[in-house]
Amino acid sequence: MTFRTLDTADLAGKTALVRVDFNVPVEAGKITDDTRLRSALPTIQYLTGKGAKVALLAHFDRPKGKVVPAMSLGFVAQPLAALLGAPVAFAGDCVGDEAAKVIAALPAGGVALLENVRFHAGEEGNDPAFAAQLAKLGDLYVNDAFSAAHRAHASTEGLARLLPAYPGLAMRRELDALDAALGNPKKPVIGIVGGSKVSTKLDLLRNLVTKLDYLAIGGGMANTFLHAAQIDVGASLCEPDLADIALEIIDLAAVAGCTLLLPTDVVVAKSVKPGVHAQTRNVYEVQPDDLILDAGPETVKTLLAAMDASQTLIWNGPLGVFEVPPFDEATVSAAKHAAKLAKSGKLVAVAGGGDTVSALNHAGVVGDMTFVSTAGGAFLEWMEGKDLPGVSALNT
Ligand code: ADP
Ligand code: MG
Repeated sequence: MTFRTLDTADLAGKTALVRVDFNVPVEAGKITDDTRLRSALPTIQYLTGKGAKVALLAHFDRPKGKVVPAMSLGFVAQPLAALLGAPVAFAGDCVGDEAAKVIAALPAGGVALLENVRFHAGEEGNDPAFAAQLAKLGDLYVNDAFSAAHRAHASTEGLARLLPAYPGLAMRRELDALDAALGNPKKPVIGIVGGSKVSTKLDLLRNLVTKLDYLAIGGGMANTFLHAAQIDVGASLCEPDLADIALEIIDLAAVAGCTLLLPTDVVVAKSVKPGVHAQTRNVYEVQPDDLILDAGPETVKTLLAAMDASQTLIWNGPLGVFEVPPFDEATVSAAKHAAKLAKSGKLVAVAGGGDTVSALNHAGVVGDMTFVSTAGGAFLEWMEGKDLPGVSALNT
């Protein structure tokens, strides 16, 4: 795919409609994590610095196409203004006279936040008439919300087809990182896939084995693979119904020349409680009442060696129940090693996924990885090899 770049855009005196992700976590009316606001700042400041008016489009929560006052985006305007160090006007509707009036009243380089796009059914329905109403408000479209790019909605897809469309700076950074990890990576490439269940990551595993040189499988889902290989996993989380699919993935990997790394030793306990007595066992010695809760030290050693032999790492899913120490050890060791290699320029290390981001934060390495995606569903769909409508619509 090829994308327009903002440095080629004619911006002075124009209005940019900028799709951002302001679906921030809130408790008691207060934003508990403003990462999403901060990540939008470079694009907003770039555009305003070039003399464009910026009208921000975003969704909040799931009002399902109706006006739900409790899901208004109004509360975001002030915190955003504080981060920008400039006023942010708020329009009580994202289309029509109200939005047009607020945008018209902006000075050059001014910023307006428009009300929740999901207050209109045309947003999630990707209704061309609604997209046209949005398009009327601006001269160009900038999408800086990679995390919403797996949805073909009016403000993420339809609108991109009606105006000159550009990826924003955060979107561009994410696309470049993903391309370096899986699109056009330096080889050899290693993947780590962990987490709880194979059933949530079937498409992802099927896609990755065709693209990677090594795939390390960890977490609860490794148990399903061990079980499929006739290894007894005791009382561990396991999806026996998926044994055939696990074998199919093992075959696909063999055909594609992807070396699968399954645990050779594991850390077990009788329950998942902090401070519970934990034991390391060879995978062939798991007892009927054992819960496998982490990868063992020999498995980790093999994984770190495979990372050393690789140029690129793509990672989704923790290797164990990292929320409950000591079952965080394999995940933390792998994370620290990846970060060390990335920091010294030996490995392009890209990771993403809700719990994966928490695990990397827990290991204290987010800043040293090459790129950590907070995009959740969009990141996973991209790892599955799916077309992301919000990205494809930006293709020139
Ligand atoms: P992500 O959100 O990064 O995509 P997942 O949601 O797939 O990751 O998986 C994360 C969860 O997997 C964590 O809550 C973790 O406790 C769980 N998990 C990891 N290893 C095991 C295991 N051996 N048994 C049960 N759950 C596990
Ligand atoms: Mg998760």
